[in-house]
Amino acid sequence: TIYLDNNATTRPTPEVLAAMQACQDEAWGNPSSKHRVGDAARQRMNSARAEVAALLAASAAELVFTSGATEANHMAILGALALQPQRRHIVSSLVEHPSTLLLLRHLQAQGVRISWIAVDEHGQLQLDELAAAITPDTALVSLMWANNETGVVFPIAQAAELARQRGVLFHTDAVQAVGRVPCDVAGLGVDLLSLSAHKLHGPKGIGALYVRKGIKLPPLLFGHQERGRRGGTEDVAGIVGLGVAAAQARAALPRMQAVSALRQRFERGLARLPQVKINGAGAARLPNTVSVRFGQVHAELVLERLDRLGICASSGSACTASGDMPSHVLMAMGMSSEQAVATIRFSLSRDTREDEIDAVLAALLQIVQPLQARAA
Ligand code: PLP
Repeated sequence: TIYLDNNATTRPTPEVLAAMQACQDEAWGNPSSKHRVGDAARQRMNSARAEVAALLAASAAELVFTSGATEANHMAILGALALQPQRRHIVSSLVEHPSTLLLLRHLQAQGVRISWIAVDEHGQLQLDELAAAITPDTALVSLMWANNETGVVFPIAQAAELARQRGVLFHTDAVQAVGRVPCDVAGLGVDLLSLSAHKLHGPKGIGALYVRKGIKLPPLLFGHQERGRRGGTEDVAGIVGLGVAAAQARAALPRMQAVSALRQRFERGLARLPQVKINGAGAARLPNTVSVRFGQVHAELVLERLDRLGICASSGSACTASGDMPSHVLMAMGMSSEQAVATIRFSLSRDTREDEIDAVLAALLQIVQPLQARAA
């Protein structure tokens, strides 16, 4: 199998799996228990917290473990509103992940005013629109750092500065960026940042919200754990897995240069195919993500044939159970629905090899042209 769907999820490393198993065997206590069995669990949790903090250049006390980034995004957005009940306005973008987008639509229906900042045809954030959208009524600016579908990276430091100058809290969904690009929360200037373990070779169902020191964000789940910020007995093994994944991601950051070079090799190869268009090619992008379309050949036709050859990628359209909706991200970039449903996303990891990229290119050379001829 050649797995190029790392923006959907990444393979947990052997070290992550071993640490999680060891935790279940040796440190299965309740971290709130004041005895040696509880201490063992608490110690491992504390080490994991320190590793995640190191990856973000944050302090351990600024991290709240959650059930993943969906919960972290909810905690940031709902928490910012609860913290400032007099402010009923949120600024976000048209290309957010559904875990943000659908929550904001729900809040909009309840009367919270939402400003949806647009992107240009490269997927780049319209910073002037952002500056104009922030008002004294704004409770939060929430913008993703890197887009999961296109890999386009938003200028988060500049956006956060605009919010800071206006005295408004700033949250970033950093799920696709953390572990792939260097992250320093102070340098970025963000107040809140969401991450998810399973996008950095850790387990699913665990993530964290960074909450800058001094911000008294109210909890979503009440209880005494996480110093009252997130109730519920902790998923200690998951947290330990996240900790190992964070330490490994930090050590492996220099390897992302090679991932970027592989991505460029892939894109040069793709350019040999007729009617190829790389989405977001004019923008700053993640080292690992290629969003591409081959004329108007439907993505599903290509993906099906790739899958038969053992190659896993994904469509650019976020397909819902109810049907094949063209991606809101690609539509926001001005694409037609035909272009959007023709889009395929290949997402590499630090484990992707050159021979795998070459094999995928060879497969695409065989698959795409007959489909294009058929479509013509
Ligand atoms: N935000 C982005 C940008 C994502 O890509 C994902 C992953 O699906 C999420 C949030 C949700 O993360 P989780 O699966 O941990 O809830």
